Amino acid sequence: MNIIQQIKTAGIVGAGGAGFPTYYKLETAKQKVDTYIINAAECEPLIQVDKQILKIYPQKILASCIEIGNLLGVKKIVIAIKEKYHDTIEILQQVLPKFDHKIEICYLENFYPAGDEFSLVYEVTGRIVPEGGLPLEVGVVVNNVVTLLNIYNALYENLPVITRAVSVIGEVYHPKTLVVPVGTQIKNLLEFCGGTKISSYTVIDGGPMMGKIVSLDDVVTKRTSAILVLPDEHPIVRMKSLPEKFFLYQTKSACEQCRDCTEICPRYLLGHDFECHKIQRSVSYQTDELLTEAYLCCECGLCDWVCPMNLLPRRVNQKVKQMLIQKNIKNPHHRKPFKVRSLKEYRKVPPERIISRFELQQYVSSATLEPDTKEVPEVKIPLLQHIGVPAVPTIKVGDKVKKGDLIGDIPEGKLGSPVHSSIDGEVVQVTKEYIKIKR
Ligand code: SF4
Ligand code: SF4
Repeated sequence: MNIIQQIKTAGIVGAGGAGFPTYYKLETAKQKVDTYIINAAECEPLIQVDKQILKIYPQKILASCIEIGNLLGVKKIVIAIKEKYHDTIEILQQVLPKFDHKIEICYLENFYPAGDEFSLVYEVTGRIVPEGGLPLEVGVVVNNVVTLLNIYNALYENLPVITRAVSVIGEVYHPKTLVVPVGTQIKNLLEFCGGTKISSYTVIDGGPMMGKIVSLDDVVTKRTSAILVLPDEHPIVRMKSLPEKFFLYQTKSACEQCRDCTEICPRYLLGHDFECHKIQRSVSYQTDELLTEAYLCCECGLCDWVCPMNLLPRRVNQKVKQMLIQKNIKNPHHRKPFKVRSLKEYRKVPPERIISRFELQQYVSSATLEPDTKEVPEVKIPLLQHIGVPAVPTIKVGDKVKKGDLIGDIPEGKLGSPVHSSIDGEVVQVTKEYIKIKR
């Protein structure tokens, strides 16, 4: 089996949150790119999984990035990491000379969203990814640190993706970064952290900026990097849970067209022809031609952070995108900007400003990493943890499975990623959405 097939069989997807099947990304990029970037920027406030993983497995991550760099035929491999992660950088500098291959470190400033692929590509190479485009179009492939660890496990230890490192932070007694089987329920994670300190709380899968509200019965997937527990009345919870009719109505009645959301927007600052304030204005008039600009929003949430009227432009953009998809209107914007806006350098938002504005100071903690995989009594493994079609179950209720066994596969010729059993046990339920296994 070649490297691409090994990565495909192991069910590796973008672990930074996107969930794009890694085999497809690499296959498409082979011999077409000159730069390979390892994304260790970790820009969401409070989250620290990537730097913790890089710190304890530097050799594995460097070995697999050389393997992939050779496969792609790149001239340059760069680890992009924030300059402030001194202890992780120190370890990297000790380990790098042990490898023959030249790997550069790009020291990033401390801003949000430094880890967004478009921002990262510009910071590392000075190239601008086109509107609605991919890093591949400017000769770059980006992989996250955890994706590279998964690649190492697949290539050198023949292990599929069955575990996930997750930071559990917020209103829990003992914030920790835990390694758990894929399919572990959120309620189990909270128990591992000593339970919650308050009774009325909301759970967010991901960071405060881009995370989504989930329930206690939801599970850790290959893409979950953090679980954030916040009081129900917290501003972040309000922003994520405000019903659609309220935020649309508020925008129509209160947007003062100040342009702040546009002026802070990382895509606008990169030179993309995208002005968020115009979308907010258009929600009142439903002008399809202009609304299609919403496709250029990466949903980073900085506009919500900056809006002086406490509106939610990002959610408006999300809603507009949904409407466009329903109407089968595609993104017509594919301009290739050749220079960034002149104020870009001065509009980098430090995560500390976000933490302060959104009242998150008390949740800044060092969640210590416990690298040994936790045991759970059962797992519920989603068949769709990636971009593409869902996996099709290859087992049935009553089957006995071992950790690592294939339980769902992708039909021939379709984009997707197989799923594997993350514990030894018996299959007790198979639905269109998930497979439940009891130990
Ligand atoms: S920042 Fe707020 S008030 Fe200003 S244009 Fe954007 S949505 Fe409107
Ligand atoms: S969420 Fe807001 S700031 Fe971020 S890309 Fe979209 S419009 Fe720009």
